[in-house]
Amino acid sequence: MYFRLAAALVAAVLSTSSALAADAHHATTAGPSADAVLKELAAGNARYVAGKLTLVTATPARRAEVVRSQHPKAIVLGCSDSRVPPELLFDQGIGDLFVVRVAGNVAAPDTLGSVEYAAGHLGTPLVVVLGHTGCGAVAATCAGGHAEGHVEAIVEEIRPAVLLVKAASPEACAKAAVPENARLAAASLTKESPILAKLVADGKLRIVTAVYDLATGAVTLQQ
Ligand SMILES: [Zn+2]
Repeated sequence: MYFRLAAALVAAVLSTSSALAADAHHATTAGPSADAVLKELAAGNARYVAGKLTLVTATPARRAEVVRSQHPKAIVLGCSDSRVPPELLFDQGIGDLFVVRVAGNVAAPDTLGSVEYAAGHLGTPLVVVLGHTGCGAVAATCAGGHAEGHVEAIVEEIRPAVLLVKAASPEACAKAAVPENARLAAASLTKESPILAKLVADGKLRIVTAVYDLATGAVTLQQ
């Protein structure tokens, strides 16, 4: 299943709307392009699925290398769920990923600020909004009613996805709303942040959504 990410990547690259934007991207950043990073992440996920983690950049040498500055290759907006650690499931190490984790991977103001920092100041070319199967925050929203304490703020962020999928049962809702919630969070990044919208328009930032499968370990890029 992990080949899905690579296959989807090829399709996504082929459908890139503007070759000019891609060229502009290469001209303005020193690091790898968003497409190249997606390929690296797909390869890392394949290693993880196969139980062959390398963690080549999770070493003391790498730690010393990035003391003075960081140039993460990707921003991951993921869920806080203990079963969805981005560095492990993409086989990445220290300084590789700028990770923003919040229950339900929602694009709230603090989240937006974190993504803006990495994309705008560190020049990271790719955002992966990563939902996952069996997400408790999505399931709680599907169940309806109001959550206790500050959890309600997260439920409010997820509710639009639940309303959109119009599922017949809480189980069907939990399944359908995960990719929809990731898609809406990705859309919010450019809708709510003029900084991110400009970076995308200028071809300096690409935002994709993906879903991680708790059972198989595979990350599937969404179209
Ligand atoms: Zn979750």
